[in-house]
Amino acid sequence: MFKRVGAVALSAGLLFTAGGPPDWAGPPDWAGQPGGPGNGNGNGNGNQKVENIIYMIPDGFNADYATNYRMYKGEDAVWDEHMKGMFTTYSADSSITDSAAAGTAMATGNKTNNGVIGLDPEGNELETILEASQDEGMASGLVATSTITHATPASFAAHVDDRNNETAIAPQLLANEVDVLLGGGKNNFLPESEAGNQESDNLIEQAEEQNYEFVETRDALLDSEIDIEDGEKLLGLFADDALAPEMHRADTEEPSLAEMTESAIGNLEGNEDGFFLMVEGSQIDWAGHDNDAAWAMQDTAAFEAAVEEAIAFAEEDGETLVVVGGDHETGGMTVGTGENPDMNINPSVLKNVTATGDHMASELNEDRSNVNEVMERYTDFELSEAEVQTIQEADDAAMAINTIISDRALIGWTSTNHTGVDIPVYAYGPEADEFSGYLDNTDLPKIMAEALGVELGE
Ligand SMILES: [Zn+2]
Repeated sequence: MFKRVGAVALSAGLLFTAGGPPDWAGPPDWAGQPGGPGNGNGNGNGNQKVENIIYMIPDGFNADYATNYRMYKGEDAVWDEHMKGMFTTYSADSSITDSAAAGTAMATGNKTNNGVIGLDPEGNELETILEASQDEGMASGLVATSTITHATPASFAAHVDDRNNETAIAPQLLANEVDVLLGGGKNNFLPESEAGNQESDNLIEQAEEQNYEFVETRDALLDSEIDIEDGEKLLGLFADDALAPEMHRADTEEPSLAEMTESAIGNLEGNEDGFFLMVEGSQIDWAGHDNDAAWAMQDTAAFEAAVEEAIAFAEEDGETLVVVGGDHETGGMTVGTGENPDMNINPSVLKNVTATGDHMASELNEDRSNVNEVMERYTDFELSEAEVQTIQEADDAAMAINTIISDRALIGWTSTNHTGVDIPVYAYGPEADEFSGYLDNTDLPKIMAEALGVELGE
């Protein structure tokens, strides 16, 4: 059965290749102009200005996720043909980075210690590419499926020595006047008297005084429209804490990552001097920590839909550079696992998994006698007696469930933390070829600054 599904996936891939690239792939205006790939002087093709940057970060995603996702989908992902190079991710104090040091490197062009946001290892403030863009009159936006004060978005507009200090990050995002902020984490903006995490400040009221429109549901977001040239801003906080994993989003009133991205672009593009937007697919990393292959693939699909929004806009606009790159790998995901005599993988079975392993484990009764019932509710797998027993006896039932599901897909894991492998970077639009070759994560914002003609780190 595995073999048959694998063959279908393979032939779908071949069909796709034979059919040529999809429509969005071009040919864009700037293609084929002089000074393209690898001229390396930072001027790129020289005659196409970069007006806007959309920086898309799939947290935890690397080449193994990319391969598994392509097989899961059955055809190329939207980013595949825009692959440019690979970059290193180590931090100032560790060969394996966390998302704070990685975000800081990708936002400021400087290495720092794990856990640190927007400061160098000595504690000096580092200017971010978002801040440098603002100095040139560009509008700015941050979008995430985590709390909006989480490490990756925070790295673009906050400066704190401890990433966990999200109550200190929240007021900095507002003080920095980021025009569009969309994600989770309402509690970090509300005072304790309203069940929030701020001692006494109500940052949502404060934001409204700063000319932010506040929205907290998908419907309100889709209805909202700000006049950015008039100084209006948008704050969307759609959950008390992180947003739901994509596979559970239908039970909420939350927008998808693609809807938040579309709204952010739609509002920011009104600014005459261009915009800088960072969009994070935050939970691919969390799925990796849990070794939850179905969550990882389904949140990657949600992220891909957001990238499709960005590329569609860039294609139309002609002056927008879209850059896609994870901040590090999570989980040591592999393509293929176990003895695997067929040397095949089978990730499309993950499409029929409708809950995270965590969620399934939470529905087990005390003696875990309902393993089959729960697994039947959320998967189409029949478990062997041995597998049922493994889940019943496991210290960590969620991990046991995730391992069994990953085994069905023949996706392997070597860690429950980040790993230190290099990460692919994809780019579309003018100056995209500047991201070619062997890079470091600190190179990304430097290349963006040069493409925009802004000074970074002044
Ligand atoms: Zn992580």
